[in-house]
Amino acid sequence: MKDYIVRATAADGQIRAFAITSKNLVEKAALAHNTSPVMTAALGRLLSGAAMMGVMMKGEKDLLTVQIQCGGPAKGLTVTADAKGHVKGFPMVSDVDLPPNAQGKLDVGGALGLGILSVMKDLGLKEPYVGQTELKTGEIAEDLTYYFAVSEQTPSAVGLGVLVGKDGSVSQAGGFLIQLMPGVSDEVIEELEKKVTEIPSVTDMLSGGKTPEQILELLLGGFALAIVDTQDAFFTCDCSKERVSRAIATLSAADLDHIIGDGEAIEVKCQFCNQAYRFEIEELKNLRQTIGPQS
Ligand SMILES: [Zn+2]
Repeated sequence: MKDYIVRATAADGQIRAFAITSKNLVEKAALAHNTSPVMTAALGRLLSGAAMMGVMMKGEKDLLTVQIQCGGPAKGLTVTADAKGHVKGFPMVSDVDLPPNAQGKLDVGGALGLGILSVMKDLGLKEPYVGQTELKTGEIAEDLTYYFAVSEQTPSAVGLGVLVGKDGSVSQAGGFLIQLMPGVSDEVIEELEKKVTEIPSVTDMLSGGKTPEQILELLLGGFALAIVDTQDAFFTCDCSKERVSRAIATLSAADLDHIIGDGEAIEVKCQFCNQAYRFEIEELKNLRQTIGPQS
């Protein structure tokens, strides 16, 4: 099954909702970064959440960045998403290895620890929107829920899950994101809160064969759920040798002279997808010429 995001409304527009199945994109991210199981879960949850947040944006060129900086062994994660289901991202430390938590699950909260969640939205305005909150549990879904409540003043319910098999491969990944719009009635809030606590975990629902549509049906079936559209989702990176060249050209003249002085070709890896780009000395010398005299 391909990865996709469902967008829906319910309760006469008092609720907006998203759900995603993201096994393939999480698998691709895990392969690109050679992540340990707990980091596959951490990166996969954040990618799945960001993908749903991305489709909330309207502009073709809008870009969302979700960054976690944390004190746990994972140190941090960065992911980006656009409005068309394209996501990419990377962990600061990809091989964190921890025993399971008290529930016998991958200990994402232990890998992240305390920290800060930042959301940056480049919506083509003069200044990007930036919101920041503390991590609540480091389990990511709860942290995004807290972010929405505090930073965007939007009461939300977020569920995210990545199931990693014994061999380290991704067996299931996905999630949901439900938001209450201004003016929502107390009855709707009460009933929804009950529903959210009643449903099985995201990974249980996905393992049971539930599609994103069916997950939303379980949560919102009693609220006149209406599917608005679906959007395919992918892990994809827009890096290129040319882009990496531009990054190298932002080095100081002294740094670049030093690299050239070593006399060896260098390999530069894209942080987001780990693709390696090789630069021969001649190419580095050409880049050096573009940045002016010795600083
Ligand atoms: Zn890349």
